[in-house]
Amino acid sequence: MPTESTFLLAGLFFVAAALGYFFAVFGDDDEEEEELATGQLNADYIKGLNFLLNEQPDQALEVFMRMVEVDDETLETHFALGSLFRRRGELNRAIRVHQNIIARPNLSVGHREQAMVSLAEDYLSAGLFDRAEKLYQDLRESAEYGVRALHKLIRIYESTNDWEPAIEAYQALEKIEPDAGEDGRVAHYYCELAEQAAMDRDFPRARELLKKAGGGRRGADRVRLVLAGLAQETGDHKEAVKVYRQVMKDQPRLITEVVPRLAESCRELDDQNLLTKSLKELCKGTGDGGKAIALATVYDPRIVNETALECLREYVLSDEVLGNLVDTASLERGDANDQRVALDKLREGLGGFVSQTHRYRCTECGYVTSQLIWQCPTCRSWETILPAAQLSVETPVT
Ligand SMILES: [Zn+2]
Repeated sequence: MPTESTFLLAGLFFVAAALGYFFAVFGDDDEEEEELATGQLNADYIKGLNFLLNEQPDQALEVFMRMVEVDDETLETHFALGSLFRRRGELNRAIRVHQNIIARPNLSVGHREQAMVSLAEDYLSAGLFDRAEKLYQDLRESAEYGVRALHKLIRIYESTNDWEPAIEAYQALEKIEPDAGEDGRVAHYYCELAEQAAMDRDFPRARELLKKAGGGRRGADRVRLVLAGLAQETGDHKEAVKVYRQVMKDQPRLITEVVPRLAESCRELDDQNLLTKSLKELCKGTGDGGKAIALATVYDPRIVNETALECLREYVLSDEVLGNLVDTASLERGDANDQRVALDKLREGLGGFVSQTHRYRCTECGYVTSQLIWQCPTCRSWETILPAAQLSVETPVT
């Protein structure tokens, strides 16, 4: 089967042949100097291609580098060569090709920017974010590559957790692409900064940053969760409970995540009735509120509440897989005390059985994690990691 290199080499042959034809047809036969140059050019091409075919990339590189010094017409071939090296993971060679192009005198603006973009891609692939960032910053005003440069800068700042420049770049992008703001990333950037400020115990700054995050559709859940966290940190558990209840009402998908936090604040307030009332409200709806509470109860053994345990009992009785695994009759027979003992035992067993590492799953790429994170580290999507709808069994380490 032909490989990518085969196609590229075929392309290089084609360019070489086309250049030969070009010089043969349009070349000025009267100018001996150009004839000599053309002959040298073709000879160099054949030499370079031979080195490539013989898997001698360094020798091929030397030949092609010399050619760039003599002829403009070979530029596209050199871009293709640089791209080939990058895709093969030979980043030092790709960087050398693109640096060589940029160093050429009298390069057109278009070719210079194309080479800068290519070199920045090489740097990104090599993990040299600071060098890539500088090139993309220089390209921001480019008519052709400006938007691309902003997208790449945002990606770099997200990877390096540089949230302030990320905000600046994203706001610049929104001026060009008004739809860009709809994914709510800026709110997440402000939340990142607010969480850092909260870790530094600078709560006024954290609140100020959350105000800037705004009340957009996306990112709003996180803003409210961070706000509730700040309320907890500063001892305002009543406020925290109020916010948590609102989040769960608006976003049932976050119930499993929020119930342990709510339970914590209710413990601090020494008010189990408030927790019971909140949980009962969640069960009233037609959704899976009860099931989400049951999952939270398995994950967090500190939740001690009759309504939460009742949700767990109902979940186990209604779940086909669990129903076959456990003695469900023990949850229904005998007096309330016997049932409670059986339920506690089952809960403890499930707690040791379920996978903490599979608690959350990215709906885009399937990445699993043990804690709620707002940007998937694999597919880079925001708000696609959600609490799993089912308990997963821990896979033993072999
Ligand atoms: Zn993902």
